[in-house]
Amino acid sequence: MAVPLQQAVRVGSYVVKQHLMGRKRYPLVLMLEPLFRCNLACAGCGKIDYPDEILNQRISVADALHAAEECGAPVVSIAGGEPLLHKELPQIVEGLIKQKRFIYLCTNALLLEKKMHLYKPSPYFTWSVHLDGSKDEHDKSVCQTGVYEKAVEAIKAAKAAGFRCNINCTFFDGTDPERAASFFDDVMAMGVDGITVSPGYSYERAPDQQHFLNRGKTKQLFRDILGRGNGGKKWEFSQSSLFLDFLAGNQTYHCTPWANPTRNVFGWQRPCYLLGEGYAKTFKELMEDTKWDDYGVGNYEKCADCMVHSGFEGTAVADAIKHPLKALRVSRQGVAVTGAMAPDIPLDKQRKAEYVFSRHVEKAIEDIHAQKEALDKQRRSAAE
Ligand code: SF4
Repeated sequence: MAVPLQQAVRVGSYVVKQHLMGRKRYPLVLMLEPLFRCNLACAGCGKIDYPDEILNQRISVADALHAAEECGAPVVSIAGGEPLLHKELPQIVEGLIKQKRFIYLCTNALLLEKKMHLYKPSPYFTWSVHLDGSKDEHDKSVCQTGVYEKAVEAIKAAKAAGFRCNINCTFFDGTDPERAASFFDDVMAMGVDGITVSPGYSYERAPDQQHFLNRGKTKQLFRDILGRGNGGKKWEFSQSSLFLDFLAGNQTYHCTPWANPTRNVFGWQRPCYLLGEGYAKTFKELMEDTKWDDYGVGNYEKCADCMVHSGFEGTAVADAIKHPLKALRVSRQGVAVTGAMAPDIPLDKQRKAEYVFSRHVEKAIEDIHAQKEALDKQRRSAAE
């Protein structure tokens, strides 16, 4: 099963409870980025082009555990950067398991075999290994040869050691549907528990700006891939059937970025995992003070092509709670890959993009220098 029964029941009852309580916005998956440093430099990544002062920052164990408690989401996805470079990650994972959170540790797997002994198999813990396709596609996507083979070895070792293991996969423009379908067959044959799939988001700072998908191309690509696997039923996805249905163009969804709130070394990122347009000090401040209506497809230029799971899985889950028969039908019959697509959201009223990235980085570097100076001053006066 892509998602263990215990997790499906806990998350399902959490979501139903939020609806019964009439909460308009609630978190589902905390995106925890404990560092931005990585040991790869992928062409489509918008997370690693920070100056060294930022790349050297780490979220502490106490801050990571406090963030999970503040937020209360039942699932935590630990991303980055490469999380396995964080020396205290085993303690963070252990603490989150004590809080009974379901953890997906996203990794490029280069360090997985070396560090695996620091973690224990648990129904609360899943390795989520980044693989963007078979050998040639993946090594090209991560701009380094040999990474696919290393990741596959690590997946086999993790499965042999009794861990749950998923793959997370991002598709870009130029993906061949036939090869993508055959890649899904290969990973299922490796014994992975589930697949998380998403189209890439066009990060304004990613080195390669040529290969991001627009919404029309995304929908057709997913129809072409899922159609080769019985509407997706051939493979185990760790995502809701309605999110896959949305990717194939059968649902008109607005994003729910608060469902996947992001905590990183800057604080709580506004408005979502993909856009860093400001930061809140606390989760409460993020939820209450973010101008949510300024964002989303049709509202903001930078959102126009977004169909990423971190923005829309929460929408699909909420839809499944409101329309369980629709969700059941798609999950039993598979995603429709022919016929008219659902109408898309018009873009004629969206506001222009703002470019605020360098302002945040400058402010963060000023804060780091100020903290360092204050510490040095404290040490000097203690020594006198
Ligand atoms: S559409 Fe939503 S999830 Fe996507 S970038 Fe915009 S705010 Fe973020």
